[in-house]
Amino acid sequence: AHSENGRLKQLYAQVSQLYHHILVNTKLGESALEYLHARGLSDEIINEFQLGYAPTDELLQAFFHEKKIDDYQLLRRSGLFSERKDETLKERFNDRIMFPIRDQMGQVIAFSGRALTADKKVPKYLNSPEGPLFNKRKILFNFDKAKKTIRHTGEVFLFEGFMDVLAAWRAGIKNGVASMGTSLTTEQIYLLEQTATKLYVCYDGDAPGKAAARRALELISPLHKFELGVVLLPEKLDPDEYVKKYGEASFADFVMQNRQTELEFYLEYYKQNKNLENEHDQLEYITAILEKVAQVTDPLLRDLTLGRLAKEFGIERVNLESQLQVLLTRFQ
Ligand code: ATP
Ligand code: MN
Ligand code: MN
Ligand code: MN
Repeated sequence: AHSENGRLKQLYAQVSQLYHHILVNTKLGESALEYLHARGLSDEIINEFQLGYAPTDELLQAFFHEKKIDDYQLLRRSGLFSERKDETLKERFNDRIMFPIRDQMGQVIAFSGRALTADKKVPKYLNSPEGPLFNKRKILFNFDKAKKTIRHTGEVFLFEGFMDVLAAWRAGIKNGVASMGTSLTTEQIYLLEQTATKLYVCYDGDAPGKAAARRALELISPLHKFELGVVLLPEKLDPDEYVKKYGEASFADFVMQNRQTELEFYLEYYKQNKNLENEHDQLEYITAILEKVAQVTDPLLRDLTLGRLAKEFGIERVNLESQLQVLLTRFQ
């Protein structure tokens, strides 16, 4: 590993071990470890994901000095530092819980650091900058570990964040990945397409989470690569909060029993901000749903949804069908 990328990977592996060591074995990491325990993470899962802690001191610089790593250019390009005006290096991650981000092969290629406080002045999560190893668009958190179960079951769960993947893991759902807050990319879908046939979007139950789920469906659905499902969590909870409130077993049950088809998702989603007592809103709603039905190729799914609409609004099914035909010719 004499190439620059090889050396960077080696550096990241060492740093990841160091952050982990600081978290689990030292006084410096004590309060961070308490924080993680309080959030329900066991030592086992902390070890499995090699979570770490970056203290406030200039830890990395001392470490590199000791290891006689004095390649300034390499360190500068590593993304672990920012540069002061006088070109000395300042550590990027200070007083943060460290989540190593790994590539498909399981090698650490970046970090995300979570602030321990809810101080609005610092970002909650801080990521490594993009670089030769880390292209955010192509990385899904936990894909390296999840791959095995995804292959085995053909299913993958898509979450918003790190803590959600970990919460699902605790609940026995080991085929969870996260797009890390940014909207899902076609490159990430391409990664999943190689291994999964069913994809479940399980974003946060709050309004931004629902909107993000809709955007994810709109990106994935037209590709016709997956059988798609959505899990909408109640009470605006995210998976981590759900597990905290109702327990691991309950989360696994909820997920298994509340997988919706994409059309079921839209049946609920488009009800937001509509008064369905009102005929104008009814028509808008039905049209929006029919437009989604027109884009779905599964005839059973189309049929189910038309049945539901007919029943809910007391409409003759033939009328829904003829309207659907109009939309279908428009889309083709
Ligand atoms: P936690 O449970 O630790 O409070 P979360 O995952 O619930 O975090 P959200 O606000 O729901 O946090 O964001 C979802 C994901 O988006 C995060 O896990 C993280 O990957 C990413 N994210 C959130 N805030 C930021 C930020 N300021 N910068 C970069 N990424 C962020
Ligand atoms: Mn969120
Ligand atoms: Mn969240
Ligand atoms: Mn959360």
